Amino acid sequence: DPRLAGIASAIRVIPDFPKAGIMFQDITTLLLDVKAFRDTIDLFVDRYKDKGISVVAGIEARGFIFGPPIALAIGAKFVPLRKPKKLPGEVISEEYSLEYGTDKIEMHVGAVEAGERALIVDDLIATGGTLNAAIRLLGMWISFNPFVLLTFTISSIYQGRDRLGDKPLFVLVQSS
Ligand code: 5GP
Repeated sequence: DPRLAGIASAIRVIPDFPKAGIMFQDITTLLLDVKAFRDTIDLFVDRYKDKGISVVAGIEARGFIFGPPIALAIGAKFVPLRKPKKLPGEVISEEYSLEYGTDKIEMHVGAVEAGERALIVDDLIATGGTLNAAIRLLGMWISFNPFVLLTFTISSIYQGRDRLGDKPLFVLVQSS
């Protein structure tokens, strides 16, 4: 698709952020490019509309940017998956490991129901730890359903894809 090159080139790479050795994929420049941003959303909408998806779950923070326009366009609700202690209601949490230590994401109880079909959105997959935790979180409620999973972008995929096992993963563009 000719739109992909425009999307890839609208993502800025910042070396050594947030620490030495990391090539940070900065999607804020993609948001400044109206065509590239719209193309990004359109590509996901075209792929996931008419697939019976009732929930789009966005991972904090950049999943909150890309998830809602996709959700509205495909007629699904939007569910934020948040960092700990941000959601005010009753939550379920899932822990995952980072390079050093662990982190957690949380979801409101009652946000999704058994049998729903969900699409999880984030801007980037690296090791896959975050996405995997999101899958487990949603899977507690909707484990019987095939689960469409999406992550948009780039991705310096190391073993990111392996970690997800047989869960479908759609990556729009790869980072170099
Ligand atoms: P993983 O859990 O797959 O190792 O890391 C993915 C998570 O870290 C995603 O939530 C993603 O937003 C964030 N992340 C890691 N590296 C980058 C990066 O270079 N650019 C951006 N935008 N996000 C990153």
